[in-house]
Amino acid sequence: MNKIEHIGIAVADAKKSIAIFNGLFNSQPYKQELVESEQVETYFYQIGPNKIELLQGLTEDSAIAKFITKKGEGIHHIAFAVDDIVAELARLKAEGFQLIHETPKKGADNKLIAFVHPKDTNGVLIELCQEIG
Ligand code: ZN
Repeated sequence: MNKIEHIGIAVADAKKSIAIFNGLFNSQPYKQELVESEQVETYFYQIGPNKIELLQGLTEDSAIAKFITKKGEGIHHIAFAVDDIVAELARLKAEGFQLIHETPKKGADNKLIAFVHPKDTNGVLIELCQEIG
């Protein structure tokens, strides 16, 4: 893994949260993107070299809405940039990690993504992402 690509924060009401984070960061999201497959609306902030992703579930059975019901709003995942997501998933599987996605899928921000199950990582949901060249 190369670096932390972004940190994802689950929010119940993006409009309210954007007002909060705009004030916190003294900046605005540079990108808003709907990820249809996940039923989630995402908002990205660029803070120096780092990115923060706000995620709002669009349906009650979306993963984000379920997460908020179970755990409340807050940090949802840490995403790591990788050069070869297929190879990295194979490596993690061989190491015994349970993968939520065995094969990468199209995520927000022009990335191929896959998640590693938090039960194998001390409760931290890990996202792998590879820039689509
Ligand atoms: Zn993410």
